[in-house]
Amino acid sequence: MADHENLKAALRPCPVCDYAEATVLDTQRFILPENHPLGTGYDVVCCSSCGFAYADTAASQADYDRFYASHSKYQDARTSTGSGLTAWDAERLRETAGQIARFEGNRDARIVDIGCANGGLLAELQVQGFSTLCGLDPSEACARHTRLLPEVEAWEGGLSKIPVEAGRFDGIVLSHVLEHVRDLQSALAEVRRFLQPGGWVYAETPDAMRYAEFIPSPFQDFNTEHINHFSTTSMNNLLRSCEFEPVNCGTKTILSAPDMPYPALFVYARMAQASDERQSDQALRESLREYIRLSRQLLARMNDNLALALRGYDRIVVWGTGQLTLKLLTESALSSIPITQFIDSNPANQGRTLRGAPIIAPGDLQDRTVPILVASTINAPSIREDIRRLNLPNPTITLSTH
Ligand SMILES: [Zn+2]
Repeated sequence: MADHENLKAALRPCPVCDYAEATVLDTQRFILPENHPLGTGYDVVCCSSCGFAYADTAASQADYDRFYASHSKYQDARTSTGSGLTAWDAERLRETAGQIARFEGNRDARIVDIGCANGGLLAELQVQGFSTLCGLDPSEACARHTRLLPEVEAWEGGLSKIPVEAGRFDGIVLSHVLEHVRDLQSALAEVRRFLQPGGWVYAETPDAMRYAEFIPSPFQDFNTEHINHFSTTSMNNLLRSCEFEPVNCGTKTILSAPDMPYPALFVYARMAQASDERQSDQALRESLREYIRLSRQLLARMNDNLALALRGYDRIVVWGTGQLTLKLLTESALSSIPITQFIDSNPANQGRTLRGAPIIAPGDLQDRTVPILVASTINAPSIREDIRRLNLPNPTITLSTH
């Protein structure tokens, strides 16, 4: 289909250039837990003017803020990133801290990590010799955990509500934050307000130019949380329009789970004058089209295998309520089989319901005969380990794409 046939007036104007017309690349649908503040789906679009790609969601920044305050998956330190409690996550944080230490020579520089989770990066920055460190996280529990680090200040908050008492910083770290933010321009204006003159920002996000090279599960990157899809070109366009001058950028491959490489990009930018300089991002759209094509193929294979595996069962329980599950509930054989319960190890999800079925803790499963679907690719090893540990005799079904 020619692009002009997919043009739409965006519900959410381009977060980089504010243009309101975009091309629809794909449409994502989700089944979400009851009372979930986000919508049931959105179009992934590409700005007709600057080429940036993003989720055209009708949800407001306030909806997102509420969501992150109440649904934090980062409180579950065992399976989430940002805590540094696992060897693979600690390695990622150590590498980022080393990189920041090479960029910022002054060990007395006052640095804040916005979206600090449980303070894993701050702990590694301490190892690098930085002495004046702060953290900010929308989850009260995460802020509390971070304050346990010696001489680290931490507050509950986020990009759109940095507490005034935090004061000013020499450097602001936004590691895997900007892909979650609906109103990027106002968020970066807020960042400027809290920077000392000449201060810097370190922004790291997934690298949408390389999504197609890393597909652990279909449409993994088009989820309810990641609503901006950056290339380095678009990141630089955004920063320049928000009065930052990019001074150093690059790409890297990080681990999002054990043996699960993930593409990321990073930019260091200093406060500067506003600039109209903008490079049209032509390549991003084609990279995403390839990602969408491969994801659709993978989803179709997964669904064929799932339909086969579910044959002969009249009910199942589903272990895992992550992004893949939310998608499979609408777009696979899972949409038609009765699900009696969902199991999730994250306390933030337990007690809620999904498609009318309760979400329970792993230890609370009473039914020893119902088949368990391991509904995750990324966390499948840790789920299988839990099933063994709890001595559950239930038959298990795993998602396969082969
Ligand atoms: Zn744009």
